[in-house]
Amino acid sequence: MIRSWTKTEAAGVLSRTGLDKVFGSLAGSKGVPVVVGYHRVVEDFAASAATSIPSMLVSRQMLERHLDWLGRRFRFVSLDELGARLDGSDGSHDAIAAITFDDGYRDFHDHAFPLLMQKGIPAAVFVVTDLVSTTGVQTHDELYLLLVRRLADRARKPGDLAGMLHGLGISVPGVVAGTPYEATRALLEALPQESVRRVVAALESEALISEDTFKPFYSLTWEMLDRIQRAGMTIGSHTRTHVLMTNESQPRVADEVTGSRNEIETRLGTGVRHFAYPSGRFDPASVDAVANAGYRFGYSTCSHRDAGHPQLTVPRTLLWEKSSLDFRGAFSGPILSCQIHRAFDVVSGCRQHHRITPESANA
Ligand SMILES: [Zn+2]
Ligand SMILES: [Zn+2]
Repeated sequence: MIRSWTKTEAAGVLSRTGLDKVFGSLAGSKGVPVVVGYHRVVEDFAASAATSIPSMLVSRQMLERHLDWLGRRFRFVSLDELGARLDGSDGSHDAIAAITFDDGYRDFHDHAFPLLMQKGIPAAVFVVTDLVSTTGVQTHDELYLLLVRRLADRARKPGDLAGMLHGLGISVPGVVAGTPYEATRALLEALPQESVRRVVAALESEALISEDTFKPFYSLTWEMLDRIQRAGMTIGSHTRTHVLMTNESQPRVADEVTGSRNEIETRLGTGVRHFAYPSGRFDPASVDAVANAGYRFGYSTCSHRDAGHPQLTVPRTLLWEKSSLDFRGAFSGPILSCQIHRAFDVVSGCRQHHRITPESANA
């Protein structure tokens, strides 16, 4: 409680005095337009949070609050317009913001798209191309759901999970003692996707989950994406299968970035210039792969830019249902302002090891 209260108070003072922008520039976002990222957009946050990673959810109602707050302070632009600002070709200096949605969930079409159309806001969707028009679900969603079920099963001891992983020849610290979210994150961050899929298959063989449970996690279809694009939204790539690029071989990374770009271009008949790194993970090899695949702009989830490829490491702020709530659980403009200006990054820093040459080193 004390911690949240302090954060709320600090956010109020920071925002009123404009210090959030100063702290934001310390965190490395100086001169960079605002880019916001969301994942799933749902009707009922609490109901969806029972089976989905909570920080990947925003309710339609909260999304509208965020958009209205942003709309009073920024001019919404498409990613191409944002790109023109980033490469210095647009010549204007007003405050702009771009809205993006990662992973290509079908609920974008049902909940976000109508809202964005009604408000006239251009947005972008970063899709995982192998899942489009299928009943497959994202590896992270399936793993999380299976771990929630397993850890809630009182008949099983937590140690069983260690035994199961051991049987697969997998040992990842922190998995067994953690919450389902911590275990999901530890496995995804430590293992190549092929190993994560083996864990998913083993968990699945223990407890069959009905297809209905997976329906909320389905991806958009190509027909939906065609409609969304025709309405003025941007479709970008988020790889073929949502691999964490820093955990994979170079040929695999090249196939993921090139294959997904070709697929979107073939299906939708337009060029693809924008790419978002799955889970924001990038290192020099993955940035090079994105450059070689022909993308013009790449988006991460933190403040660090690669001095050699600043346009391929554009910072973004990921938001969800609770990222703008104060200690009473009420919407707080000052807290949202601090998130947008990355004021909290100064304190919390970045958990990733990008192994890049930071842009600030050249400044
Ligand atoms: Zn993603
Ligand atoms: Zn970082």
